[in-house]
Amino acid sequence: MIEKLDHIGIAVKDIDSTLKFYSEALGLKCTHVEEVSGQHVKIAFLPVGGVNLELLQSTDPEGAVAKFIEKKGEGIQHIAFKVENIEMAMQALKEKGVEFIDAIPRKGAHGSKIAFLHPRSAHGVLIELVEK
Ligand code: ZN
Repeated sequence: MIEKLDHIGIAVKDIDSTLKFYSEALGLKCTHVEEVSGQHVKIAFLPVGGVNLELLQSTDPEGAVAKFIEKKGEGIQHIAFKVENIEMAMQALKEKGVEFIDAIPRKGAHGSKIAFLHPRSAHGVLIELVEK
């Protein structure tokens, strides 16, 4: 069902100043920046070894990323697994008693379909499924 680790979502206050660290200090390259209005975030992607770092900056003080930073500060917010068919993966997980934040998939970056598992079903980790 799960094909690979797709990306690691990192909540940041400011993408531009964060990119300075990742590019100038670590030498990673940002390949794409996108605003996903449905999620109230601006996202920057930095590929490394077949996985992306996904820097998330909130565009809405009421958004999930803003609330995360308010509570915990900047840092790793979620991990995302790539699946071939998100509806089938969700169905299979629901049958195993896994709870989801999203009842149905929503639109993610790059026109992908995404859904978040509830952290209480995943030992405290916010897990995203993504179908591209
Ligand atoms: Zn993500």
